[in-house]
Amino acid sequence: MKTCPQCQKQVQDVVSRCECGHTFPPSSLFNVEEESRLERAQARASSRGIRIAGGVLIFAGLAVAAWFAFGYDSTVEGPKQEIAGYRFAGDRVENIGRNTTRLVGVNCGIGLMILGGILMLHRPVE
Ligand SMILES: [Zn+2]
Repeated sequence: MKTCPQCQKQVQDVVSRCECGHTFPPSSLFNVEEESRLERAQARASSRGIRIAGGVLIFAGLAVAAWFAFGYDSTVEGPKQEIAGYRFAGDRVENIGRNTTRLVGVNCGIGLMILGGILMLHRPVE
């Protein structure tokens, strides 16, 4: 039983509207349970979203690291050589600047993968 704050009459707990017209706020036990159930489902869904983002980051990081490691050309054309009056294109030589760029690129990719791994460890708070 609960008491109507307007007319002080005792009414059943399940009654949502008193005879006098007062409307009780929906705060029954069922609603509290339903609410926390919805909150947990919401937390699980957002946690799943974070883990999916982590997986995407790992793949992106892998792609970035692999491209810089194998696809990025860190060499430049070497100085032209002149032998017996003929000019030959020099061999390609490692370029320190481009090599550094590649190293930074690979490390960025690895960093993305680590970040993705951390995100994938996310679990919903129960
Ligand atoms: Zn009432």
